[in-house]
Amino acid sequence: MDCIFCKIANGEIPSSKVYEDDKILAFNDLNPVAPYHILVIPKKHYASILDVPAEEMGIIADIHNAINTIAKEKGFDKTGFRIINNCGEDGGQEVKHIHYHVLAGKKLPNYEA
Ligand code: IMP
Repeated sequence: MDCIFCKIANGEIPSSKVYEDDKILAFNDLNPVAPYHILVIPKKHYASILDVPAEEMGIIADIHNAINTIAKEKGFDKTGFRIINNCGEDGGQEVKHIHYHVLAGKKLPNYEA
Protein backbone atom coordinates (compact mmCIF):
# COMPACT_ATOMS: atom_id res chain seq x y z
CA MET A 1 0.00 0.00 0.00
CA ASP A 2 1.32 3.40 -0.94
CA CYS A 3 0.74 5.18 2.37
CA ILE A 4 3.22 7.83 3.51
CA PHE A 5 2.44 7.34 7.21
CA CYS A 6 2.89 3.54 6.91
CA LYS A 7 6.29 4.28 5.38
CA ILE A 8 7.11 6.62 8.28
CA ALA A 9 5.89 3.96 10.75
CA ASN A 10 8.13 1.28 9.24
CA GLY A 11 11.14 3.57 8.90
CA GLU A 12 11.16 3.67 5.09
CA ILE A 13 10.70 7.46 5.28
CA PRO A 14 12.54 9.32 8.05
CA SER A 15 10.66 11.40 10.58
CA SER A 16 11.46 13.59 13.54
CA LYS A 17 10.31 11.13 16.19
CA VAL A 18 8.76 12.37 19.43
CA TYR A 19 7.37 9.14 20.94
CA GLU A 20 7.25 5.48 20.03
CA ASP A 21 5.92 2.27 21.53
CA ASP A 22 4.91 -1.05 20.00
CA LYS A 23 1.62 0.30 18.59
CA ILE A 24 2.00 4.08 18.36
CA LEU A 25 4.37 6.57 16.72
CA ALA A 26 4.45 10.34 17.17
CA PHE A 27 6.53 12.70 15.06
CA ASN A 28 6.77 16.39 14.25
CA ASP A 29 4.57 17.70 11.45
CA LEU A 30 6.54 18.87 8.40
CA ASN A 31 4.50 22.08 8.21
CA PRO A 32 3.93 23.16 11.81
CA VAL A 33 1.19 25.66 12.61
CA ALA A 34 2.18 25.99 16.28
CA PRO A 35 5.43 25.76 18.29
CA TYR A 36 4.51 22.13 18.96
CA HIS A 37 2.74 20.37 16.09
CA ILE A 38 2.97 16.65 16.63
CA LEU A 39 1.22 13.90 14.66
CA VAL A 40 0.25 10.76 16.56
CA ILE A 41 -0.51 7.64 14.52
CA PRO A 42 -1.15 3.96 15.05
CA LYS A 43 1.54 1.87 13.35
CA LYS A 44 -1.25 -0.28 11.92
CA HIS A 45 -2.99 1.23 8.91
CA TYR A 46 -6.54 2.52 9.33
CA ALA A 47 -7.70 5.06 6.76
CA SER A 48 -9.73 7.00 9.33
CA ILE A 49 -11.76 6.55 12.50
CA LEU A 50 -14.46 5.06 10.25
CA ASP A 51 -12.08 2.23 9.39
CA VAL A 52 -11.41 1.13 12.99
CA PRO A 53 -13.49 -1.95 13.91
CA ALA A 54 -15.30 -1.73 17.25
CA GLU A 55 -13.13 -4.46 18.74
CA GLU A 56 -9.98 -2.48 17.85
CA MET A 57 -11.13 0.89 19.25
CA GLY A 58 -8.63 0.43 22.07
CA ILE A 59 -6.09 1.89 19.63
CA ILE A 60 -7.79 5.27 20.07
CA ALA A 61 -7.23 5.02 23.83
CA ASP A 62 -3.61 4.09 23.10
CA ILE A 63 -3.25 7.25 21.00
CA HIS A 64 -4.65 9.37 23.81
CA ASN A 65 -2.40 7.63 26.32
CA ALA A 66 0.60 8.51 24.13
CA ILE A 67 -0.59 12.14 23.94
CA ASN A 68 -0.85 12.19 27.76
CA THR A 69 2.77 11.00 28.03
CA ILE A 70 4.03 13.44 25.36
CA ALA A 71 2.26 16.41 26.97
CA LYS A 72 3.90 15.67 30.32
CA GLU A 73 7.32 15.05 28.75
CA LYS A 74 7.21 18.30 26.76
CA GLY A 75 5.62 20.25 29.63
CA PHE A 76 2.58 21.51 27.75
CA ASP A 77 0.33 19.57 30.10
CA LYS A 78 0.61 22.70 32.26
CA THR A 79 -0.35 25.23 29.59
CA GLY A 80 -2.86 23.27 27.53
CA PHE A 81 -3.06 21.94 24.02
CA ARG A 82 -5.45 20.97 21.26
CA ILE A 83 -6.07 17.55 19.70
CA ILE A 84 -7.48 17.48 16.15
CA ASN A 85 -8.54 14.55 14.01
CA ASN A 86 -9.46 15.52 10.47
CA CYS A 87 -11.77 12.93 8.94
CA GLY A 88 -12.69 12.70 5.27
CA GLU A 89 -13.13 15.25 2.54
CA ASP A 90 -15.07 17.94 4.42
CA GLY A 91 -12.91 17.43 7.50
CA GLY A 92 -9.81 18.30 5.46
CA GLN A 93 -8.08 14.94 5.82
CA GLU A 94 -5.18 14.80 3.34
CA VAL A 95 -3.33 11.70 4.52
CA LYS A 96 -5.56 8.64 4.57
CA HIS A 97 -3.94 7.01 7.60
CA ILE A 98 -5.63 8.01 10.83
CA HIS A 99 -3.66 10.65 12.72
CA TYR A 100 -4.21 13.07 15.56
CA HIS A 101 -2.67 16.53 15.42
CA VAL A 102 -1.45 17.81 18.78
CA LEU A 103 -0.96 21.59 18.83
CA ALA A 104 0.63 23.42 21.73
CA GLY A 105 3.07 26.11 22.76
CA LYS A 106 0.91 29.17 22.15
CA LYS A 107 -2.59 30.42 22.81
CA LEU A 108 -4.49 28.81 19.97
CA PRO A 109 -7.11 30.83 18.10
CA ASN A 110 -10.76 29.90 18.14
CA TYR A 111 -11.67 28.02 15.01
CA GLU A 112 -14.60 28.50 12.72
CA ALA A 113 -17.15 25.80 12.18
P1 IMP B 1 -4.38 16.10 7.45
O1 IMP B 1 -4.74 17.30 6.63
O2 IMP B 1 -5.11 16.05 8.75
O3 IMP B 1 -4.44 14.82 6.67
O4 IMP B 1 -2.86 16.35 7.89
C1 IMP B 1 -1.77 15.77 7.26
C2 IMP B 1 -0.56 16.38 7.89
O5 IMP B 1 0.57 15.59 7.57
C3 IMP B 1 -0.23 17.80 7.39
O6 IMP B 1 -0.23 18.69 8.51
C4 IMP B 1 1.16 17.66 6.76
O7 IMP B 1 1.96 18.78 7.02
C5 IMP B 1 1.68 16.42 7.44
N1 IMP B 1 2.67 15.65 6.69
C6 IMP B 1 2.57 15.19 5.42
N2 IMP B 1 3.67 14.48 5.08
C7 IMP B 1 4.46 14.48 6.18
C8 IMP B 1 5.75 13.89 6.45
O8 IMP B 1 6.38 13.22 5.63
N3 IMP B 1 6.25 14.12 7.71
C9 IMP B 1 5.59 14.86 8.65
N4 IMP B 1 4.39 15.40 8.42
C10 IMP B 1 3.84 15.23 7.20
